[in-house]
Amino acid sequence: MGVFSDKKALLLDMNSTFMFGEDRFGISEDFSKYYHQIGGGLSRNEVNTIIRSIYAHLSERYPDEAYRHNFPSVKNAVKNAVTHRLNDDETSKIIDTFAFHEMGYIPDEYIEALHKLKKTFQLAVVIDIWAPKSTWLKLFEESGVAILFSAASFSSDHGMVKPSPKPFELVIAQLGIRKEQGLVIGDSVRRDLGGAKAAGLDCILVGGAAHPHAVGCYENLLALSYAI
Ligand SMILES: [Mg+2]
Repeated sequence: MGVFSDKKALLLDMNSTFMFGEDRFGISEDFSKYYHQIGGGLSRNEVNTIIRSIYAHLSERYPDEAYRHNFPSVKNAVKNAVTHRLNDDETSKIIDTFAFHEMGYIPDEYIEALHKLKKTFQLAVVIDIWAPKSTWLKLFEESGVAILFSAASFSSDHGMVKPSPKPFELVIAQLGIRKEQGLVIGDSVRRDLGGAKAAGLDCILVGGAAHPHAVGCYENLLALSYAI
């Protein structure tokens, strides 16, 4: 029997757990490059100002408990934080540009690790993203990992963000397992371990974080996949 043999399903965080290079919103980013590639008509300055306003609006609210169950969508941020009046087509191109910069990549060895873990456990994802999930679903399909996930929660579907226990409870219900059979894997003490504990789930930390409430700590998901 392997480690954690009492567990049936792994509830995986995404960013910095199996996806890396996400959230490219630093001051050196030029958002107009992607935006112009997809045929947008606003100027470089306009696009960069708009994306920065959206990012500022959302990043201010992300840690705020008042928004834990009604976190605004990027579309909502376009309405409330952007002074430019954008038509539907421009709004959609701005949202696509935001998603492009929010999404990272899944390294090949992490794709392999997910396939290996799937041999022993049901896999599910509990994901906080701001843009709509379609961009990520496309990458999951292209990377061959979409078929590995039996259940999923994307915060931009319902506005509930970690450490709320609700996204975890949602996934446990989708999996049809008891919470004792679920094991959360994530890199954030506050969002993953905090949310898992609030939902009554055990949690393993990866990526360098450590906490006495975690049932295990691994350097990364690869190390965990070798150990299980
Ligand atoms: Mg994370």
